[in-house]
Amino acid sequence: MKIALIVPAYNEQEALPVFWQAVEPVLQQENGFQFEYIFVNDGSKDGTFAYLKNLANHNKRVKIISLSRNFGKEAALTAGLAEATQADAVIVMDADLQDPPELIPAFLEKFKEGYEVVYGTRQNRQTDSWLKRMSAKGFYKFYNFISTRPMPENAGDCRLISQRVLQALLTLPERERFMKGLFNWVGFKAASVPFVRQARQAGQTKWNYWWLWNFALEGLTASTTLPLRLWTYFGFSVSLFAFLYALWVAAKKIFFGNPVSGYSSLMVAILFFSGVQLISLGVIGEYLGRTFMEVKQRPLYIIDEKINCH
Ligand code: UDP
Ligand code: MG
Repeated sequence: MKIALIVPAYNEQEALPVFWQAVEPVLQQENGFQFEYIFVNDGSKDGTFAYLKNLANHNKRVKIISLSRNFGKEAALTAGLAEATQADAVIVMDADLQDPPELIPAFLEKFKEGYEVVYGTRQNRQTDSWLKRMSAKGFYKFYNFISTRPMPENAGDCRLISQRVLQALLTLPERERFMKGLFNWVGFKAASVPFVRQARQAGQTKWNYWWLWNFALEGLTASTTLPLRLWTYFGFSVSLFAFLYALWVAAKKIFFGNPVSGYSSLMVAILFFSGVQLISLGVIGEYLGRTFMEVKQRPLYIIDEKINCH
């Protein structure tokens, strides 16, 4: 059986040699499988592409897709997946060894048992900062609360999917790809393997908190329209309250006259509801933006060069 290892790499010249050293021996020990690597060079500005080219020259099992610029991990992954249509299953892995190579045999074991999706579940998040742990937890809780299709908590990005699942994934046309959500959306029989996520072995992480926050928004708006609907309910509740309040104000006026007061409550109401209106506009804008991006129908990525590919 053919297994393709898909590795997105953006400025990973320090990490890739370590990656190769660690993963190659693991693959050598797996009998009965034929492995190939698909490295996606996501517009790296360092020696990543040069290193990969050298690797591919000496090793025909190493394929490279080099994108014309940095398109982001989700797009890079999609480029890799699109190239893997010959494989029976693909394994998606980061280049920094945060997902330990020992996952590969464990994943293949489950695949042999008949599971079509196998993902790693993080046992603990000790290698993450407190803030990242908390925000991740909050995100999963919130996502699963509002999403139509809940996502397993603490599932890493590292996973194995069968060719059938891959084909299903490639039929999803969206431009803004939240891979974790998409992997989850297509369904199929899934198994999880517990693992401990390591600290990055070399090089730098590509995300910061601002980026992660936007990524989270992306994931939420991609998977549910509940935030839009929320404002309908909120609007109805407020209108009902306003109606009852108006009745009360009218009654007070009729029975007790109208001593002018209530400046502060008026002010609070105006400010509060202006705020609410701006937030709801923002939510609409968020979805409008997404719609705009989808409607443009731009390709997800542009390939500059392919090496050892069909
Ligand atoms: N990556 C990529 N394009 C990007 C950012 C990241 O292909 O624009 C790759 C990166 O090279 C690595 C993986 O995605 O293989 C995960 O990135 P990173 O380790 O920085 O993320 P973290 O593990 O810190 O979440
Ligand atoms: Mg990493």
